[in-house]
Amino acid sequence: MKNPLTALQPSREKTLVRIGNIQIGGAEIVLIAGPCAIESEEQLVTSGQKLKESGVSILRASAYKPRSSPYSFQGLGAEGLKMHQAAQKKHGLLTATEVMDVRLVEEAAKHVDVLWIGARNMQNFDLLKEVGKCGKPVILKRGASATVEEWILSAEYIMAHGNKDVILCERGIRTYETAARYTLDLSAVAIAKTMTHLPIIVDPSHAAGRTDILPALCKAAIAIGADGLIVEAHPEPKASLCDASQALSLEEFNAIAKELKAVAESIGRSMLCC
Ligand code: PEP
Ligand code: MN
Repeated sequence: MKNPLTALQPSREKTLVRIGNIQIGGAEIVLIAGPCAIESEEQLVTSGQKLKESGVSILRASAYKPRSSPYSFQGLGAEGLKMHQAAQKKHGLLTATEVMDVRLVEEAAKHVDVLWIGARNMQNFDLLKEVGKCGKPVILKRGASATVEEWILSAEYIMAHGNKDVILCERGIRTYETAARYTLDLSAVAIAKTMTHLPIIVDPSHAAGRTDILPALCKAAIAIGADGLIVEAHPEPKASLCDASQALSLEEFNAIAKELKAVAESIGRSMLCC
Protein backbone atom coordinates (compact mmCIF):
# COMPACT_ATOMS: atom_id res chain seq x y z
CA MET A 1 0.00 0.00 0.00
CA LYS A 2 1.52 3.36 -0.99
CA ASN A 3 0.01 5.32 1.90
CA PRO A 4 -0.31 2.89 4.81
CA LEU A 5 -0.51 5.50 7.56
CA THR A 6 -3.15 7.81 6.10
CA ALA A 7 -5.34 5.30 4.24
CA LEU A 8 -8.88 4.61 5.33
CA GLN A 9 -9.04 0.95 6.29
CA PRO A 10 -12.07 -1.03 7.41
CA SER A 11 -10.35 -2.01 10.66
CA ARG A 12 -9.27 1.54 11.51
CA GLU A 13 -11.26 4.16 13.42
CA LYS A 14 -11.35 7.76 12.14
CA THR A 15 -8.55 9.79 13.66
CA LEU A 16 -9.46 12.24 16.39
CA VAL A 17 -6.78 14.89 16.74
CA ARG A 18 -6.55 16.21 20.27
CA ILE A 19 -5.47 19.82 20.74
CA GLY A 20 -5.46 20.92 24.36
CA ASN A 21 -8.96 20.23 25.68
CA ILE A 22 -10.65 19.81 22.29
CA GLN A 23 -10.58 17.28 19.48
CA ILE A 24 -11.05 17.53 15.74
CA GLY A 25 -12.57 14.72 13.71
CA GLY A 26 -15.47 13.74 15.98
CA ALA A 27 -19.13 14.72 15.87
CA GLU A 28 -18.39 18.30 16.93
CA ILE A 29 -17.28 20.79 14.29
CA VAL A 30 -14.42 23.04 15.34
CA LEU A 31 -14.06 26.71 14.49
CA ILE A 32 -10.62 28.21 13.94
CA ALA A 33 -10.53 31.92 13.14
CA GLY A 34 -8.40 35.00 13.45
CA PRO A 35 -6.28 37.50 11.57
CA CYS A 36 -4.07 36.48 8.66
CA ALA A 37 -0.98 37.86 10.40
CA ILE A 38 0.04 38.78 13.93
CA GLU A 39 0.23 42.57 14.03
CA SER A 40 0.22 43.36 17.77
CA GLU A 41 -0.63 41.74 21.10
CA GLU A 42 -3.67 43.98 21.38
CA GLN A 43 -4.95 42.78 17.99
CA LEU A 44 -4.67 39.17 19.20
CA VAL A 45 -6.34 39.82 22.56
CA THR A 46 -9.26 41.68 20.98
CA SER A 47 -9.67 39.01 18.29
CA GLY A 48 -9.40 36.15 20.77
CA GLN A 49 -11.89 37.57 23.25
CA LYS A 50 -14.55 38.35 20.63
CA LEU A 51 -14.05 35.17 18.62
CA LYS A 52 -14.35 33.07 21.77
CA GLU A 53 -17.85 34.47 22.23
CA SER A 54 -18.63 33.25 18.68
CA GLY A 55 -17.65 29.67 19.54
CA VAL A 56 -14.10 29.72 18.18
CA SER A 57 -11.70 27.26 19.82
CA ILE A 58 -8.41 28.10 18.10
CA LEU A 59 -7.06 31.57 17.28
CA ARG A 60 -5.17 31.54 13.99
CA ALA A 61 -2.59 34.28 13.29
CA SER A 62 0.77 33.93 11.68
CA ALA A 63 4.16 35.26 12.70
CA TYR A 64 5.66 34.23 9.37
CA LYS A 65 3.90 35.12 6.11
CA PRO A 66 4.51 33.68 2.63
CA ARG A 67 3.84 36.77 0.49
CA SER A 68 3.78 36.79 -3.30
CA SER A 69 5.73 40.06 -3.30
CA PRO A 70 9.00 40.50 -1.37
CA TYR A 71 7.89 44.08 -0.62
CA SER A 72 4.70 43.05 1.21
CA PHE A 73 4.54 42.70 5.02
CA GLN A 74 6.45 39.52 5.87
CA GLY A 75 5.21 38.98 9.44
CA LEU A 76 6.68 39.90 12.84
CA GLY A 77 8.69 36.68 13.18
CA ALA A 78 9.91 35.66 16.65
CA GLU A 79 8.37 38.78 18.24
CA GLY A 80 5.02 37.72 16.84
CA LEU A 81 5.32 34.28 18.40
CA LYS A 82 5.87 35.89 21.80
CA MET A 83 2.79 38.08 21.27
CA HIS A 84 0.71 34.99 20.42
CA GLN A 85 1.76 33.36 23.69
CA ALA A 86 1.29 36.50 25.79
CA ALA A 87 -2.16 37.18 24.32
CA GLN A 88 -3.22 33.59 24.99
CA LYS A 89 -2.96 34.25 28.72
CA LYS A 90 -5.67 36.91 28.30
CA HIS A 91 -8.10 35.33 25.80
CA GLY A 92 -7.57 31.67 26.76
CA LEU A 93 -8.06 30.19 23.27
CA LEU A 94 -5.76 27.60 21.73
CA THR A 95 -3.37 29.12 19.16
CA ALA A 96 -2.13 28.28 15.66
CA THR A 97 0.56 29.71 13.40
CA GLU A 98 2.17 28.90 10.04
CA VAL A 99 5.71 27.56 9.71
CA MET A 100 7.61 28.03 6.48
CA ASP A 101 11.17 27.12 7.40
CA VAL A 102 12.66 23.98 8.95
CA ARG A 103 14.86 26.15 11.18
CA LEU A 104 11.84 27.78 12.82
CA VAL A 105 9.68 24.75 13.56
CA GLU A 106 11.10 23.98 17.00
CA GLU A 107 10.75 27.57 18.19
CA ALA A 108 7.22 27.95 16.81
CA ALA A 109 6.18 24.66 18.45
CA LYS A 110 7.19 26.06 21.85
CA HIS A 111 4.85 29.04 21.47
CA VAL A 112 1.64 27.70 19.92
CA ASP A 113 -0.70 24.69 20.17
CA VAL A 114 -0.99 23.89 16.45
CA LEU A 115 1.33 24.51 13.51
CA TRP A 116 0.13 24.78 9.96
CA ILE A 117 1.87 24.16 6.67
CA GLY A 118 0.69 26.64 4.07
CA ALA A 119 -0.39 25.80 0.54
CA ARG A 120 2.93 26.97 -0.93
CA ASN A 121 4.84 24.49 1.23
CA MET A 122 2.66 21.42 0.87
CA GLN A 123 5.46 19.63 -0.95
CA ASN A 124 8.37 21.12 1.00
CA PHE A 125 9.40 17.65 2.06
CA ASP A 126 12.12 18.71 4.50
CA LEU A 127 9.56 20.91 6.27
CA LEU A 128 7.05 18.03 6.35
CA LYS A 129 9.70 15.78 7.93
CA GLU A 130 10.53 18.45 10.50
CA VAL A 131 6.92 18.98 11.60
CA GLY A 132 6.71 15.20 11.80
CA LYS A 133 9.07 15.51 14.76
CA CYS A 134 7.67 18.70 16.34
CA GLY A 135 5.35 17.12 18.92
CA LYS A 136 2.39 19.40 18.05
CA PRO A 137 -0.64 18.76 15.81
CA VAL A 138 -0.22 19.99 12.24
CA ILE A 139 -2.74 21.41 9.79
CA LEU A 140 -1.64 20.57 6.25
CA LYS A 141 -3.09 22.90 3.64
CA ARG A 142 -3.59 21.58 0.14
CA GLY A 143 -1.30 23.13 -2.50
CA ALA A 144 -3.16 25.27 -5.03
CA SER A 145 -2.15 22.87 -7.82
CA ALA A 146 -1.96 19.64 -5.87
CA THR A 147 -4.11 16.60 -6.50
CA VAL A 148 -5.92 15.00 -3.58
CA GLU A 149 -3.51 12.06 -3.86
CA GLU A 150 -0.45 14.36 -3.58
CA TRP A 151 -2.02 16.16 -0.61
CA ILE A 152 -2.57 12.88 1.21
CA LEU A 153 0.96 11.71 0.39
CA SER A 154 2.25 14.89 2.03
CA ALA A 155 0.25 13.98 5.14
CA GLU A 156 1.85 10.55 4.90
CA TYR A 157 5.29 12.24 5.08
CA ILE A 158 4.39 13.95 8.36
CA MET A 159 3.02 10.73 9.82
CA ALA A 160 5.96 8.66 8.62
CA HIS A 161 8.22 10.98 10.60
CA GLY A 162 6.42 10.39 13.86
CA ASN A 163 3.43 12.75 14.01
CA LYS A 164 0.01 11.09 13.92
CA ASP A 165 -1.87 14.34 14.59
CA VAL A 166 -2.42 15.63 11.07
CA ILE A 167 -5.44 17.64 9.92
CA LEU A 168 -5.96 18.17 6.20
CA CYS A 169 -7.18 21.58 5.00
CA GLU A 170 -8.77 22.35 1.63
CA ARG A 171 -8.12 26.03 0.79
CA GLY A 172 -8.96 26.38 -2.90
CA ILE A 173 -7.17 25.36 -6.07
CA ARG A 174 -6.08 27.27 -9.15
CA THR A 175 -8.53 26.99 -12.04
CA TYR A 176 -9.43 29.17 -15.04
CA GLU A 177 -12.04 31.00 -12.92
CA THR A 178 -11.06 34.50 -11.82
CA ALA A 179 -14.21 35.60 -9.96
CA ALA A 180 -12.74 34.21 -6.74
CA ARG A 181 -9.06 34.15 -5.70
CA TYR A 182 -9.03 30.34 -6.02
CA THR A 183 -11.76 27.75 -6.54
CA LEU A 184 -12.92 26.09 -3.32
CA ASP A 185 -12.81 22.39 -4.19
CA LEU A 186 -15.45 21.00 -1.88
CA SER A 187 -15.62 17.74 -3.77
CA ALA A 188 -12.04 17.18 -2.64
CA VAL A 189 -13.32 17.06 0.94
CA ALA A 190 -15.78 14.31 0.07
CA ILE A 191 -13.15 12.49 -2.00
CA ALA A 192 -10.45 12.73 0.66
CA LYS A 193 -12.91 11.31 3.19
CA THR A 194 -13.12 8.15 1.07
CA MET A 195 -9.32 7.87 1.09
CA THR A 196 -8.16 8.77 4.59
CA HIS A 197 -9.15 8.55 8.24
CA LEU A 198 -7.63 11.97 8.98
CA PRO A 199 -9.84 14.95 9.89
CA ILE A 200 -10.42 17.49 7.13
CA ILE A 201 -11.14 21.18 7.59
CA VAL A 202 -11.90 23.92 5.06
CA ASP A 203 -10.44 27.42 4.63
CA PRO A 204 -13.03 29.37 2.63
CA SER A 205 -11.21 32.70 3.14
CA HIS A 206 -8.15 32.01 0.99
CA ALA A 207 -10.27 30.25 -1.59
CA ALA A 208 -12.65 33.18 -1.96
CA GLY A 209 -10.36 36.19 -1.56
CA ARG A 210 -13.56 38.12 -0.78
CA THR A 211 -16.02 38.20 2.07
CA ASP A 212 -19.46 38.32 0.45
CA ILE A 213 -19.56 34.61 -0.43
CA LEU A 214 -18.11 33.40 2.88
CA PRO A 215 -21.45 32.65 4.60
CA ALA A 216 -22.38 30.34 1.71
CA LEU A 217 -18.96 28.66 1.56
CA CYS A 218 -18.86 28.05 5.32
CA LYS A 219 -22.29 26.43 5.29
CA ALA A 220 -21.47 24.33 2.23
CA ALA A 221 -18.22 23.12 3.80
CA ILE A 222 -20.06 21.87 6.85
CA ALA A 223 -22.80 20.30 4.77
CA ILE A 224 -20.25 18.30 2.76
CA GLY A 225 -18.66 16.92 5.90
CA ALA A 226 -15.77 19.18 6.94
CA ASP A 227 -14.65 18.63 10.53
CA GLY A 228 -13.92 22.30 11.00
CA LEU A 229 -13.41 25.70 9.40
CA ILE A 230 -10.43 28.05 9.43
CA VAL A 231 -11.54 31.58 8.63
CA GLU A 232 -9.82 34.96 8.51
CA ALA A 233 -11.35 37.60 10.79
CA HIS A 234 -9.78 40.86 11.94
CA PRO A 235 -10.79 43.62 14.40
CA GLU A 236 -10.33 46.19 11.60
CA PRO A 237 -10.41 44.32 8.29
CA LYS A 238 -9.58 47.33 6.13
CA ALA A 239 -6.45 48.01 8.17
CA SER A 240 -5.26 44.39 7.97
CA LEU A 241 -1.60 44.23 6.89
CA CYS A 242 -2.26 41.03 5.00
CA ASP A 243 -5.20 39.63 2.99
CA ALA A 244 -7.46 42.59 3.84
CA SER A 245 -9.94 41.86 1.03
CA GLN A 246 -10.96 38.52 2.51
CA ALA A 247 -10.93 39.43 6.20
CA LEU A 248 -14.30 39.39 7.94
CA SER A 249 -14.92 41.78 10.81
CA LEU A 250 -15.33 40.02 14.16
CA GLU A 251 -19.03 40.91 14.06
CA GLU A 252 -19.46 39.48 10.55
CA PHE A 253 -17.80 36.28 11.70
CA ASN A 254 -20.14 36.10 14.67
CA ALA A 255 -23.17 36.36 12.38
CA ILE A 256 -21.89 33.52 10.18
CA ALA A 257 -21.07 31.32 13.18
CA LYS A 258 -24.66 31.59 14.38
CA GLU A 259 -25.96 30.27 11.06
CA LEU A 260 -23.77 27.17 11.15
CA LYS A 261 -25.53 25.45 14.03
CA ALA A 262 -28.58 24.54 11.96
CA VAL A 263 -26.45 23.17 9.11
CA ALA A 264 -24.41 21.02 11.51
CA GLU A 265 -27.57 19.68 13.16
CA SER A 266 -29.13 18.86 9.79
CA ILE A 267 -26.34 16.31 9.21
CA GLY A 268 -26.39 14.94 12.75
CA ARG A 269 -23.43 16.95 14.03
CA SER A 270 -23.01 19.94 16.31
CA MET A 271 -20.78 23.00 16.57
CA LEU A 272 -18.21 22.79 19.35
CA CYS A 273 -18.86 25.43 22.05
CA CYS A 274 -22.14 26.65 20.53
C1 PEP B 1 -2.93 31.75 5.48
O1 PEP B 1 -3.60 30.90 6.06
O2 PEP B 1 -2.80 32.93 5.89
C2 PEP B 1 -2.30 31.39 4.18
C3 PEP B 1 -1.25 32.03 3.69
O3 PEP B 1 -2.97 30.38 3.57
P1 PEP B 1 -2.59 29.52 2.26
O4 PEP B 1 -1.27 28.87 2.58
O5 PEP B 1 -3.73 28.58 2.16
O6 PEP B 1 -2.50 30.48 1.11
MN1 MN C 1 -4.03 34.94 4.85
